[in-house]
Amino acid sequence: MFLQLVGLAIFIDFGSQSTFYVVLLSVPVALLFGPVYCGWMCPRGMFQNIIGSMGKRILGKRYNTLVSKRMHKPLSYFRYVVLLFLLISMVLHELRIIDDLIMDSVVTDVLIFIMVVSILLSFFVDRAACRYFCKEGAASSLTNLVKVRKIRRNPSLCCSCGLCDSVCPMWIDVSKKEVVIDTACISCMKCVQKCSVDALRVE
Ligand code: SF4
Ligand code: SF4
Ligand code: SF4
Repeated sequence: MFLQLVGLAIFIDFGSQSTFYVVLLSVPVALLFGPVYCGWMCPRGMFQNIIGSMGKRILGKRYNTLVSKRMHKPLSYFRYVVLLFLLISMVLHELRIIDDLIMDSVVTDVLIFIMVVSILLSFFVDRAACRYFCKEGAASSLTNLVKVRKIRRNPSLCCSCGLCDSVCPMWIDVSKKEVVIDTACISCMKCVQKCSVDALRVE
């Protein structure tokens, strides 16, 4: 929470573009540990947690049921579509095919709309913006494939209680993996903290 407030202060001081640059600056750390900015510092993550805890309280067992497990995977690719939309818009802008007005109004407005709606959706679905819509998350998620330090599960210690799965905000089946290599992981370490038998380690 403290780091998320620091992230919020940076966001307020330097505007929405700051997220992009902070994510960029955190790349060296992400190459070691994955997208830690997402798990620990992103103010949008903090807002989703706050809205999500309200959703949990009000919806009870209906919380997190809006998206089925079957739909989860295909939907998670949508954030790459959003990232592609931004990159193509930037290239078209550089080539002067679209002008400043379209870039600053239409493209920016679409991206802000997507982000605001997706953060509000976290009332129904844990970290909805991170799971399905965030372009920065899409870019930094790729570091999961190359990060040096990975979460590893020791099957001889694991009692298959499933607690790590239940706390994962990104709906990763940690208890079914020996090494967590998943682009959805935001390096929040909730699974590691939850495991009472020390079966999960970052190595
Ligand atoms: S995925 Fe996006 S919204 Fe979620 S924590 Fe990362 S940067 Fe923030
Ligand atoms: S919380 Fe620990 S013991 Fe339980 S399933 Fe996960 S790794 Fe295994
Ligand atoms: S709970 Fe574990 S697997 Fe899930 S996002 Fe956090 S660090 Fe990754």
